[in-house]
Amino acid sequence: MWQIVGQTRAVSLLQRSLEREAVAHAYLLVGPSHVGKMTLALDLARALNCEAAQPPCGECASCQKIASLKHADIQVIGLTRDGNSAETKPRAEISIDQIRQMQNSASLPPFEGKHKVFIIDNAEFLSNEAANCLLKTLEEPVGKVIFILLATSEKLLPATVISRCQRLELPPLAATEVEAALTSRWSIEPQKAELLARLSQGCLGWALSAALDDSLLQQCAEKMDKLLDIISAGYEERFAYAAQLATQFSQNRGLVQEILDLWLSYWRDLLLVKVGCGDTITNVDRLAMLVEMAGGYSLAQIKAFINSIQAAGEQLRQNANPRLVLEVLMLSIPSRKVGISVDYG
Ligand SMILES: [Zn+2]
Repeated sequence: MWQIVGQTRAVSLLQRSLEREAVAHAYLLVGPSHVGKMTLALDLARALNCEAAQPPCGECASCQKIASLKHADIQVIGLTRDGNSAETKPRAEISIDQIRQMQNSASLPPFEGKHKVFIIDNAEFLSNEAANCLLKTLEEPVGKVIFILLATSEKLLPATVISRCQRLELPPLAATEVEAALTSRWSIEPQKAELLARLSQGCLGWALSAALDDSLLQQCAEKMDKLLDIISAGYEERFAYAAQLATQFSQNRGLVQEILDLWLSYWRDLLLVKVGCGDTITNVDRLAMLVEMAGGYSLAQIKAFINSIQAAGEQLRQNANPRLVLEVLMLSIPSRKVGISVDYG
């Protein structure tokens, strides 16, 4: 049984390749954070190494070892530190040394399974040298070795690397799909499942983490409160916040991206409320605030600021100066006007 929820298109494509024994030697899974890229990669690793007649069975020794990341032939590399490494902070990029080590390992035959599978998480953060080094491996496929690259955006990956992989897109799930999975598979109570499904924006992994750890929802609320403070703050406070985020960015890119995603979700909701589609918003717990705020902005202002947030995210991914990018974003926050009407939807 495949563990991934939804993503039927990608799953059926992989299943057909497995049945025809025509599995590609490299895949690129593209989709937002927590949508299930790692789950699908591990599903494929299990299917390739499963000992049962209907792989992946999820029960044989091989499937169980892979599920707990204890299979000698399955390796995950990425920005998080290795289990036995002395480093404590996440890495800023995937280094050429990590790729070289992976290549050494790939040159040896499988140790206990049928296929070696190398999963490269956050592949968009491969350093240039690492990407070039990886390219050589992708250009000369070796039997029984499969590479699976996971990325939230492929814009930063060299076209040469992308062209060597079979690309599978994992779109966000429908809120109803997330909600159904939370209640049926993980027995989350219906009311909580509905809220988490909306807030997850189609990324089940996030909803599950938040269901298991209440502090995540709390942190999310605190970040959102801060964003709302900043909207009405003066320039001095906004720039101090930009500086603070820029410092965080140098230590943890993902965290700043999450904050930008949060802004985006809020301003998209504002747009939805403004045009009278308030029943489809993400931040259902903030509807009253959204309705009040939507009255203070014109549609053009909201759209323009959504574009600014998206542009900032894109520039950060392309290694622009984070402080500059974030200061420009702070300057683009529209000022509220009084007396603009709103359709409550
Ligand atoms: Zn199995």
